[in-house]
Amino acid sequence: MIIEDARLDEIREFLPEWLERSRQEAAAGEVASYIPELSKAPREALGIHLLDKHGDSASAGDCGMAFTLQSISKVFTLILALMDNGEDAVFERVGMEPTGDNFNSMLKLELVRPGIPFNPLINAGAITVSSLIRGSTPEEKSARILEFFRKLSGGSPLEVNEAVYRSEFETGNLNRSIGYFLVENGVLNDSVEDVLSVYFRHCSIEATCRDLARMALVLAGDGTDPLSSEKLIPRRYVQIAKTFMITCGMYNASGEFAIKAGLPAKSGVSGGILTFVPGALGIGVVGPALNAKGNSSAGVHLLERLSQRMDWSLF
Ligand code: GLN
Repeated sequence: MIIEDARLDEIREFLPEWLERSRQEAAAGEVASYIPELSKAPREALGIHLLDKHGDSASAGDCGMAFTLQSISKVFTLILALMDNGEDAVFERVGMEPTGDNFNSMLKLELVRPGIPFNPLINAGAITVSSLIRGSTPEEKSARILEFFRKLSGGSPLEVNEAVYRSEFETGNLNRSIGYFLVENGVLNDSVEDVLSVYFRHCSIEATCRDLARMALVLAGDGTDPLSSEKLIPRRYVQIAKTFMITCGMYNASGEFAIKAGLPAKSGVSGGILTFVPGALGIGVVGPALNAKGNSSAGVHLLERLSQRMDWSLF
């Protein structure tokens, strides 16, 4: 499917009204609190930004609100790890299958042999991927990740939210358990605290819906930034990332989102969702109240309706 015209004019007409309708869905959700700092996010917030390959955009709601990328960052650290190491080295340590378990579950690590994480988007997989980023110190790895993310966002001065980082570092005992388990299994060779500092830092990178849409636009362009024509990611690695986004990007609601919206997407516990229409549009959404599956309650509602109305489904 090649979309020549993303029909932003049409979207601009109904978007504010649709956003307000979807905002009501926030009431059914809960803001994540297991990272204490995240619980401060406004429950009723909802914002969206859509950006097409010509640089035209449409936005509505709280699209200027900054939030941390959380699990959305895992898509791009996976891509950077692939660029640093190649496919074979990455998939020696991380699998390619959905789990059906929670993103922070340790269950399958013990049940399945070899005990490598099922995929790079669950925490065990993303922590492993963090260890594969090139750099001789955690600081160097984190600096390379930030630099890569800034480049993908078209030069936006993205920064780590230190308060969120510290909040997760102080309370992230489940991720610590996963880390030590991975060391025991021979999947991680580095110090757990060092790997976790890289992982927590990239989860705590702060962005807006516009930044998300800009990063997503590079994926929509198969790795080439349509606005600068710069090739930022090899096409093959976008193909891999896109496939994981479809099969496990929306946690255990990935199948439902594929059926209802039909777009590659990745969500995070701060309520962000990054998605895109291949060849046409990058989209960023934030709505901090999460549904029972851990995705933005209002954000999913808005994206599913939008995709159906605009006939964006890839399937
Ligand atoms: N930093 C979060 C964690 O490890 C990311 C989880 C998420 O967004 N699902 O728990």
